[in-house]
Amino acid sequence: MNTDVIDFDDARVRLNDHIVRGTAADGMVRAFAITARNTVQVAHENHGTSPLVSAALGRLMMAGQMMGLMYKSDDELVTLSVRGDGPIGGLTVTANNKGQVKGFANHPHVWLPLRPNEHLDVGSGVGAGSLSVVIDRPGTVPYSSQVELVSGEIGEDLTYYFAVSDQIPTSVGVGVLVDTDTSIRQAGGFIVQLMPGHLDEVVDQLEANLSGLTSVTDLLEAGMAPTDMLEHILAGMDYQELEVVPAEFYCGCDDVRAGRAVAALGRETLLDMIEHEESAEVYCHFCGKRHCLEPDALRDLLD
Ligand SMILES: [Zn+2]
Repeated sequence: MNTDVIDFDDARVRLNDHIVRGTAADGMVRAFAITARNTVQVAHENHGTSPLVSAALGRLMMAGQMMGLMYKSDDELVTLSVRGDGPIGGLTVTANNKGQVKGFANHPHVWLPLRPNEHLDVGSGVGAGSLSVVIDRPGTVPYSSQVELVSGEIGEDLTYYFAVSDQIPTSVGVGVLVDTDTSIRQAGGFIVQLMPGHLDEVVDQLEANLSGLTSVTDLLEAGMAPTDMLEHILAGMDYQELEVVPAEFYCGCDDVRAGRAVAALGRETLLDMIEHEESAEVYCHFCGKRHCLEPDALRDLLD
């Protein structure tokens, strides 16, 4: 897929999933925003997620997609794992720096009553637990960091992660709106960070802007694209857009990789399966695809 900077005036770009990266206040603020309805819809269809899990998984996937753009190298991967004592159990997503993400929930069909304000109760679905972030840079030992969950609402948990782990004051907003037919109506988010050396007046302005914000899904429902969101959140702070990157759900698993997993069973097991004319099935947790290897394919593996 094309990850070159694309022309934002192109109306199609405004409709499709994409991430924008920008800066404000003379580089004292860095900012990301995303719209990813299709990305979350694909996850919903692949895994049959309930509205509650679509929201939880969607929020974490979009955070991953934006965080992926914080890293420069093409083969760098960021993996976010949430482990909680709520009924969802856990969420895992992996994103690269091309706007691509894959992810799954331990218990995708979980349902809980709506909150009194009619919102999905993601915090109760996730429960108490931890958030871990692993950054894989090829050729180096993966960097890994873990924090306790603050609320299980994902956005607040990531805000806390950035404050504790990276010591960067950050505001993370991620939201998914699910339609009555369980399809994804809106999905989007933002990450706004105060870089080292920022001035107090920049903090004051940003806090004032953020205090007027209701929710990301309200902004999306008002018809805002990621650029509009950042111009709104960073109003009066000289927002400059640096990059627009398409976003999508992408797994990358295939029969070859599945074959490698089967080969790891060992020669004895493979010979036994071939003798009994058995086929092997490899299930991909990330995208829900089943890779079937017939006895002929198993024979190829032995060679
Ligand atoms: Zn897959």
